[in-house]
Amino acid sequence: MKPFEAPLGDILFSLDHVAQASDLPDWDADLAGEIGAHFAAFAQGEIAPLDEPGDMQGCRLENGRVLMPDGFDTAYAAYSEQGWPSLTAPEEFGGQGLGALMLAITSEVFSGANHSLQMVTGLVPGAVRTLLRFGTPDQKARYIPPLASGETLATMCLTEPEAGSDLSRVRCKATPEGSGWTISGEKIFISGGDQNMSDRILHLVLARTSDDGVKGLSLFLCPCTRADGSRNSVVVTRIEEKMGLHASPTCQLAFDGAEAELIGAEGQGLMAMFTMMNHARLDVALQGVAHAARSYDIACAYAAERVQGRGPDGSAVTLDQHADVRRMLDQIDWLAVSGRSLAHLAFVTMESETAPDLVDFLTPVAKVYCTEAGIKAAELGMQVLGGYGYLREYRLEQTYRDARITSIYEGANGIHARMLATRLAPGPAGDAFAGFVAQESARWGGAEISRALDTWQSARAQLADQDGAAQAHGFMQTTIDTVLTCIGARLRAAADHHDAPDRIKRICG
Ligand SMILES: Cc1cc2nc3c(=O)[nH]c(=O)nc-3n(C[C@H](O)[C@H](O)[C@H](O)COP(=O)(O)OP(=O)(O)OC[C@H]3O[C@@H](n4cnc5c(N)ncnc54)[C@H](O)[C@@H]3O)c2cc1C
Repeated sequence: MKPFEAPLGDILFSLDHVAQASDLPDWDADLAGEIGAHFAAFAQGEIAPLDEPGDMQGCRLENGRVLMPDGFDTAYAAYSEQGWPSLTAPEEFGGQGLGALMLAITSEVFSGANHSLQMVTGLVPGAVRTLLRFGTPDQKARYIPPLASGETLATMCLTEPEAGSDLSRVRCKATPEGSGWTISGEKIFISGGDQNMSDRILHLVLARTSDDGVKGLSLFLCPCTRADGSRNSVVVTRIEEKMGLHASPTCQLAFDGAEAELIGAEGQGLMAMFTMMNHARLDVALQGVAHAARSYDIACAYAAERVQGRGPDGSAVTLDQHADVRRMLDQIDWLAVSGRSLAHLAFVTMESETAPDLVDFLTPVAKVYCTEAGIKAAELGMQVLGGYGYLREYRLEQTYRDARITSIYEGANGIHARMLATRLAPGPAGDAFAGFVAQESARWGGAEISRALDTWQSARAQLADQDGAAQAHGFMQTTIDTVLTCIGARLRAAADHHDAPDRIKRICG
């Protein structure tokens, strides 16, 4: 099996020269390179080696507690010790106060090294962001420092048996008690619902405070232990058996009068939860990119060594000498490189704080494109390896199994497409996207982008005439094609000016 190698050069090239992070006032390319190199070394040395054994061993439930696969607790201790959980938390709460772009670097590397472990640790920045935005000063002071130090990990408890995509069906009930609240009900599919890595777990729970549909939903902070150190009434009733991510415990949780405190205003739970989810969506886009990049790395290494068939002069050749194999390798590479550029464009726009409508528009587009890219890349990679791709040995089958969920969770891709077509495109977010593409057209010249914009504008106009939901899938594809035209132009310009690897020049034409 090809050991994991972090695609750090590609990541920095994409951030610096394609998404143009260098336009941001506080972007420090040298610091990004240093942080990326440190994390890459840690991921390659300590996290990635646990990926295969973790997948084979899985998590288990013993005496009501979840045990992670062997070695995960030690790796997490090193991760905390080295300060990685505190990367983006504010300095006043024990964090390092770095921007979201640093996290974009480490998140992709982490997911490529070990998606399962990244899942369990990855909700901390979103939880911190939610606390910063909606928490009281006292809640911030009590909860952020232990999240930044690694003492506490966070979960996001939304899903219930009757409430998947449709959160208005949430039934988990919150009842005022004394100065706080208690929560009772069942949550399912909760990533990291329990584990033996962090001392504590902070559950962010969406629960019902009244029967008034989504307006009756509020968000709660529910720690796994009470102030006196006793365990709160949150019990893991089962770990789901699933296709992939075997080292990420997907838990069913029973809350039985669990002590909790309200965060944000009563009835505003969904809005508060979206602070956490919007961060998580771009993080999931990077999971897709990570799987595509890993697939490329494995497939390329294999195709360069495996000898099959003959070349034009009759001599034996390696797989990568066959035009059809090269076609597949280039396609996998393009999926990784273009997906990363799109996700980075969304991150850089978010950090610039100048175009929130464009961020709203790009977030679901990046989520959909990058997650589908990860799945497609793993499938193509398997094809490159032939029968060996289907075996466990080369791990592409794990990449495929692990990548598959990304188009389902954090909002199924169909729902993002529907939101794009029915809510975002007709309003200011659609205008912001049209303005962005027009700017790109003026900037890079050529007729391709302006033709793509015309096509997109007529698809947008049709949404108003017909049922937007019925056209959502097609409209998402048209939007992806349009934004990829801009990404292609950016990649070509960056490759011309900044000493890009030949393969990048080749795949972006
Ligand atoms: C490994 C894993 C980890 C997870 N982690 C968490 C977690 O940490 N916290 C948490 O709260 N949840 C988590 N989930 C749950 C996940 O977010 C849900 O599975 C997801 O929201 C979809 O809900 P559902 O499975 O009930 O599918 P359903 O809502 O039943 O939807 C099924 C399909 O129907 C389509 N669909 C449904 N509604 C619409 C609509 N309105 N418009 C268009 N299409 C629609 C979609 O294509 C969807 O794929 C996790 C799930 C898995 C498998």
